[in-house]
Amino acid sequence: MKIIDAHIHCCFDFEPFSETAAFAGHKNTKEHIEKVFAENNIVHAVVMGNISVEPSENKYPKNMSYCVGLDSNCFEKDKKEYFINKVEENLKLRECVGIKIYPGYCQYYVNDEVYAPFYELAAKYNKPVAIHTGALSRPDGKLKYSHPIRIDDIAVDFPKTRFVMCHFGNPFLQEAAAVAEKNSNVSIDLSGLIEGNFDLEDYFKKNKYYINVLKCWINYFGDYKRIMYGSDWPIVNIKKYIEFIKRIIPEKYHEYVFYKNAVEIYGLEEK
Ligand SMILES: [Zn+2]
Repeated sequence: MKIIDAHIHCCFDFEPFSETAAFAGHKNTKEHIEKVFAENNIVHAVVMGNISVEPSENKYPKNMSYCVGLDSNCFEKDKKEYFINKVEENLKLRECVGIKIYPGYCQYYVNDEVYAPFYELAAKYNKPVAIHTGALSRPDGKLKYSHPIRIDDIAVDFPKTRFVMCHFGNPFLQEAAAVAEKNSNVSIDLSGLIEGNFDLEDYFKKNKYYINVLKCWINYFGDYKRIMYGSDWPIVNIKKYIEFIKRIIPEKYHEYVFYKNAVEIYGLEEK
């Protein structure tokens, strides 16, 4: 089965990423990621950018597209026009397939007016806005901003904009499922639910209750054409994570979740 990884981070040889990759049993190099992609039949990946809004600094290998990432500094009032123009420059490029925002790390609610011009731009170019939701990897982040419930507000107020709820709001799964089920312009990605180089059998044994809850809310949401596989590379072991998601999603939907939905949602070319 061909796979598209709809959520990775890519910064080869960058030291903090290299440590995370090692923890997951990987190396943070172009050669290594190519090998892992080939071994697992991953034909394409979507990079969640967070380095720069400069198009020339968002250059990735050919088998990757990217979402232009907006960090906290992109919302300073006096720089507003600059960032709006830069994001539009990216969206005009074929390889830029969306915008990524990081509420929780950025201390604004998703329905804060600072984001509105970017939601409108995304609608203009018919490219989605991917939103970090749920747990945060840094203690200075704030969960109230990454909680998925306010995605309902923007899904309603920006009906022409498509949103991707990254990480399915984990662990706020119930609210994430309610928001996605209600709003057809919201999709989810299942990246980053586990970290590291875990033992699959052991994980399923020790986390039986969590697995049941996760399956329950995916099933409640129920639209398997709006669910995408993603890993959140470099945080997790790719081979094991693919196996994990295969066990969570009913087999008849694998082709959609692992491949077809990403083509549709991010407007990718068929591979
Ligand atoms: Zn991520």
